[in-house]
Amino acid sequence: MLTTQIKNKEEIISKLSGSTFIIKCIGCKEVLFPETEIDKFISENIEKNKITGRLKIDYLCNQDFSQAYINNHKVEIEKAETILVFSCGVGVQVMASLLENKKVITGCDTIYINGFQGLTVQNYNCAQCGNCYLNYTAGICPITACSKGLLNGSCGGAKNGKCEVNKDFDCGWEKIYNRLLKLNKKPKEEILIRDYSNL
Ligand code: SF4
Ligand code: SF4
Repeated sequence: MLTTQIKNKEEIISKLSGSTFIIKCIGCKEVLFPETEIDKFISENIEKNKITGRLKIDYLCNQDFSQAYINNHKVEIEKAETILVFSCGVGVQVMASLLENKKVITGCDTIYINGFQGLTVQNYNCAQCGNCYLNYTAGICPITACSKGLLNGSCGGAKNGKCEVNKDFDCGWEKIYNRLLKLNKKPKEEILIRDYSNL
């Protein structure tokens, strides 16, 4: 089972640029979804005239369902430079995959709690690490999309886009690099390097 908490204000603000479309997923609200805190953050930190639209959705992790909502909000989404998503890591990754040309950022960290995990069939996974990296990796999880769960970039072993650990598996870090380049970002500037020397 998982729960979400709002990220620190500075991280979210540093990733916002231009106008914003906001998505909140309330699929796991019965566990804990900090909606009041999120609404407070939005009203205090994002000017109303910079918000192109809002969407509240159940189960953003369901790709078909999310695609249908996107289709209904095409105009507002197209106008936005940033798509700000408040959901678990799966929901953010689904949205990044559906909106290939948009900067999709997360406003939440996803945290593991004991209990039964839902059984939604999905192409993306979140290990509920508690400190979400998606804002630095173009909306692709380095922990679940990389066989070694590397945080600071590729191991260098990929061949023709396939992982050296499992040749049936696309290299997660190649996908991260390619998506950053597609979004006109420089990977070296974007990726948050984790310093392991203090551990
Ligand atoms: S970095 Fe990956 S594992 Fe951690 S919260 Fe984000 S999506 Fe989940
Ligand atoms: S080849 Fe890519 S996905 Fe595989 S372990 Fe190395 S960086 Fe990770």
